Amino acid sequence: MSAAASTKRVYDFAEGSRDMRMLLGGKGANVAEMTRLGLPVPGGFTITTRACIDYLSAGHATPRGLDAEINRHLEALEVRVGKRLGDSADPLLVSVRSGAPESMPGMMDTVLNLGLNDASVAGLAARTHNPRFAYDSYRRFIQMFGDVVAGVERGHFEDALSALKSARGVDQDVQLESDDLRGLVDTFKEIFRRHKGEDFPQDPRVQLDAAIRAVFESWDNRRARDYRRVNRIPDDLGTAVNIQQMVFGNTGPRSATGVAFTRNNTTGEAGEPFGEFLINAQGEDVVAGIRTPEPLVELHAHLPEAYDQLVRTMALLEKTYRNMQDVEFTIEEGQLYMLQTRNGMRSAEAMLRIAVDMVDEGLLAPGEAMVSLVAADQVRQLLLPRLDLSAMPVPAATGVQASPGAATGVVVFSADVAERRARAGESVILVRDETTPDDFHGMVAAKGILTSRGGKTSHAAIVAVGMGTPAVTGVTDLIVDEAACTLAIRDAFTVREGEWLTIDGAKGTVYVGRLSLLPPDPHNPYLERVLSWADAFRAMKVRTNADTPEDARRAREFGAEGIGLCRTEHMFGGDERLPHVQDMIMAESRDDLVAALDALRTFQIEDFIGIFEAMEGLPVTIRLLDPPLHEFLPDYTDLRIRVARAEATGVADDEAAVQLPKMERLKEVNPMLGTRGCRLGIEIPDLYRMQVAAILTAACDVKHRTGVEPIVEIMIPLVGFEEELRWLREHILDVADSVFAEQGTNVEYHVGTMIELPRAALVADEIARQADFFSFGTNDLTQTTLGFSRDDAETKFLGDYLSKGILRSNPFEHIDRAGVGKLVRMASASAREVKPKIKLGICGEHGGDPDSIHFFGAIGLDYVSCSPYRVQTARIAAAQAALQNRTG
Ligand code: ADP
Ligand code: MG
Ligand code: MG
Repeated sequence: MSAAASTKRVYDFAEGSRDMRMLLGGKGANVAEMTRLGLPVPGGFTITTRACIDYLSAGHATPRGLDAEINRHLEALEVRVGKRLGDSADPLLVSVRSGAPESMPGMMDTVLNLGLNDASVAGLAARTHNPRFAYDSYRRFIQMFGDVVAGVERGHFEDALSALKSARGVDQDVQLESDDLRGLVDTFKEIFRRHKGEDFPQDPRVQLDAAIRAVFESWDNRRARDYRRVNRIPDDLGTAVNIQQMVFGNTGPRSATGVAFTRNNTTGEAGEPFGEFLINAQGEDVVAGIRTPEPLVELHAHLPEAYDQLVRTMALLEKTYRNMQDVEFTIEEGQLYMLQTRNGMRSAEAMLRIAVDMVDEGLLAPGEAMVSLVAADQVRQLLLPRLDLSAMPVPAATGVQASPGAATGVVVFSADVAERRARAGESVILVRDETTPDDFHGMVAAKGILTSRGGKTSHAAIVAVGMGTPAVTGVTDLIVDEAACTLAIRDAFTVREGEWLTIDGAKGTVYVGRLSLLPPDPHNPYLERVLSWADAFRAMKVRTNADTPEDARRAREFGAEGIGLCRTEHMFGGDERLPHVQDMIMAESRDDLVAALDALRTFQIEDFIGIFEAMEGLPVTIRLLDPPLHEFLPDYTDLRIRVARAEATGVADDEAAVQLPKMERLKEVNPMLGTRGCRLGIEIPDLYRMQVAAILTAACDVKHRTGVEPIVEIMIPLVGFEEELRWLREHILDVADSVFAEQGTNVEYHVGTMIELPRAALVADEIARQADFFSFGTNDLTQTTLGFSRDDAETKFLGDYLSKGILRSNPFEHIDRAGVGKLVRMASASAREVKPKIKLGICGEHGGDPDSIHFFGAIGLDYVSCSPYRVQTARIAAAQAALQNRTG
């Protein structure tokens, strides 16, 4: 690359292509691609993401040479169009549009109609013979420039517009006359001057400069940072700036603006394209829900030629991108212009159906569709709750089916309150007239979103669909009073902040009160197809974490191929068992201990029989008791209070008096680092012996009765030393011999350990000598490696760490590849050196996280294990890992 090329910071649309999104941003690259395809795209050029990063890292100073480069491209555009920016007779107007490499819908701000000033607005009016249009464009420009570039609150302008409309007795912007708009321009300029302390800039090159800088700056605003954090988009990509000739959807009844999807983004259905438009409107009007738009098919009646051309264009784009596209277009006096295309956000249902249909249409092979059209995480949306309609609830209002799923929660009216109450553990429904990108943090926190305005392509709908949050928009009967924190539905209902509301995004209905929700219907034929592809591609098995036969059965319905973690501590609770557990812990003599364990053994045999039967011969990993014993005992402080009270009142409390000294013995300052896991098993060998006897007795029984032999894997928790495992393994072999002799049969069983301490990972080769398998317990391994307590980190400092960028993601959610991941990798390699056939799996939360699964796939683990509801996600993610690791 020549020196000149490497510092090139501005690209004409004709110079770019769709594979340049890192440099030109998604919007710029796709606009360039549409230009290359010969589609009707208004001319323009793109300032690169690198220029943005250079600007920000140079202390917000325009990189040297950039201005000159912009001028050259601007002049070339002026020559091509035959108009000059700000010309008072016939001005070129441009939009200034941001566009980052990753789609960040609505995150960055666009300025339209730039180049208008007091002189050029008159030129535009004269030239188009349409003063109404010219002043409408100017007042929009002042507002957008004021809001986005100069930081004058949008509300000031909106209030003035509303005041004007009520003074004129109209309720739609389009009903305002040209003189009204001319007056509004003066009002807006006055608002600008009052709040900004300077006049609205008249020099178009000054306007352009300020707008470009504002786009650069917007990369760092709060909502952009929030969005990147939630979506794990790196902070150092930067945004490109697109400067594009304006075309006008607001010149009259033969003009329009709209957005459309090439297929239905809720159901995935192909056929009639699907979208919304507004006649005589500009840009953001559709998305912002200013007026309720018309469905796209109606456009045919208004502007048939433009409609047909749009339909053909959308088909071409879909073929080119081999993905469902979301396009933005404008029609000026019957002539269609394409302004944007991108891969469309879609519901989980739509995602699966589109993948299957596109494969059947021959557009992609299954492997390609798996990687480019399926987001593993999103299939969990199919498992969203539905409304229980058996009670025949009557909707209080109906709106647009914006994002599927039902949600019930307490009503809140601001993003901040949503975030606060959600953090306190409440389910909230965020209610707004319309949402804006500033509401993003509240939308993330909300269980459901409800707006009075906007359609299926409103900001609220698009963001909700992307997050899998149920949403209903465009409820025209809804009156939201954000100041008073109440909503009203016609005259019939009033709901205050904190009161319950239920929405059904699949139906677009709203209910007052708290309605019961049903678990979702897991049978979806498109999902079955995608899963069958996944199973053919993946190298890793997917198991489940299940402690009960019900969980095990549910997980098998989702396709689990075994249990990777069956925790036995849950089997120690309950009124029937806890007293025996307490007797065991408090036993004074060996006899007392054996008696208590015998009682527990009976229960445990039943537990394991249920699980083995549910798994029908698939492998089952059972972890022997792990938590510190005092978790099963009365609270130490309570006991002390009871004893003190007994002494003070003279009323005896024998139980407390007996238990207190024992608790004194058992109490630990730091129980999570105390007598737990294998340490417990070594201190009380009879406990683990009882558990192993119960497990193997149950297995023999199931084999005997059903003829299906369980595969048993006995897992010792918290091992850090080879000797611990060797010592316990001997006990296990000994118990097995006697159980098998007693039962007159035997079953296949393996002894292994969890790797959940850094030391265990570091000496994995030594520990492997005693183990048939390892299961990486990445929850504890993350806690112990990072020194973060999971119980506290997430509610305490982790949020702060994330927002300050100290950490990029929550290490309990996505594996910390560099640290914990390195331990997993090292331990796997060194264990396999000693024992090539050792079975390696992972059973932490990370086992259901696609990003982490990808990593485990690259290491070559044999399986991941996750909660039942994530099994389908994990099957898909494992396939994607295999496909992507194959191609490098
Ligand atoms: P976003 O990223 O929020 O979608 P865009 O840059 O796409 O922002 O701009 C929003 C809308 O503004 C577009 O959908 C389009 O309707 C309008 N717009 C942008 N540029 C132009 C242009 N050159 N001519 C006409 N309308 C435009
Ligand atoms: Mg757009
Ligand atoms: Mg553990």
